[in-house]
Amino acid sequence: MSADSSLHRGRYRPIEWTLSAIPTMVVRHVGRCLSCGERSADTVDPDDAQLWCLRHAGMTQHSSYELSAFQYFNATITDPAVGGTTPPQT
Ligand SMILES: [Zn+2]
Repeated sequence: MSADSSLHRGRYRPIEWTLSAIPTMVVRHVGRCLSCGERSADTVDPDDAQLWCLRHAGMTQHSSYELSAFQYFNATITDPAVGGTTPPQT
């Protein structure tokens, strides 16, 4: 048995997918300490993530942070050739 025997072989035609934000899921914010890797709970308020960084700095003297935001998406097939549908409007 060859190492790649589990790979599916055959013609592959890419189909069209679309990403759309999940309407009920708002953007979340998180702070992370670059010194120790600890991170805040994710929050809807970016100020809360920054406040966590300041509190962590006060407790640990760690001085480098990353603030990031993330959002949840649905992937939907929109290719008419395979019966795709229009993604829901937000
Ligand atoms: Zn830290």
